[in-house]
Amino acid sequence: MKRRPTTDLPADFGISERVRKWAAVKGYGNLDQHLEYFLLQVEKFGYRYSSWDAALMVAVRDDWARLGKGQAQVCAKCGGSLRAGHTKRKIGLVCNDCEAAA
Ligand SMILES: [Zn+2]
Repeated sequence: MKRRPTTDLPADFGISERVRKWAAVKGYGNLDQHLEYFLLQVEKFGYRYSSWDAALMVAVRDDWARLGKGQAQVCAKCGGSLRAGHTKRKIGLVCNDCEAAA
C-alpha cells in the first residue's frame, strides 16, 4: 500500500465541516483556540501531514493547546454553547434550544 505523501499546510486550511461534526459528537469545544495553537505549532516545527483534518483532530483530542477539562462543550446539533443548559442524547450533548425544537 502506498502512503499518501505529506504536504505543507494548505493556505486555506481551517476547521472543516468534518472536524466540526467530529468535535461536536466528541464534545470538544473551543475549536478556534485549538486551531490557533495547532497552526502555531505547525509553523514553529514545520510539520507536514498527509491529512490535515486528521492532524487537527489529534491536536484537539490530545489538547495541544492545553485548554483543559474546563473547556466549554458544544451542542452536537448546532455547535453552539451549552452554557445555558443541555441534555445528554445518543448523539452527544444537545443544547436547550435544539432540545426544545426536537
Ligand atoms: Zn443546539
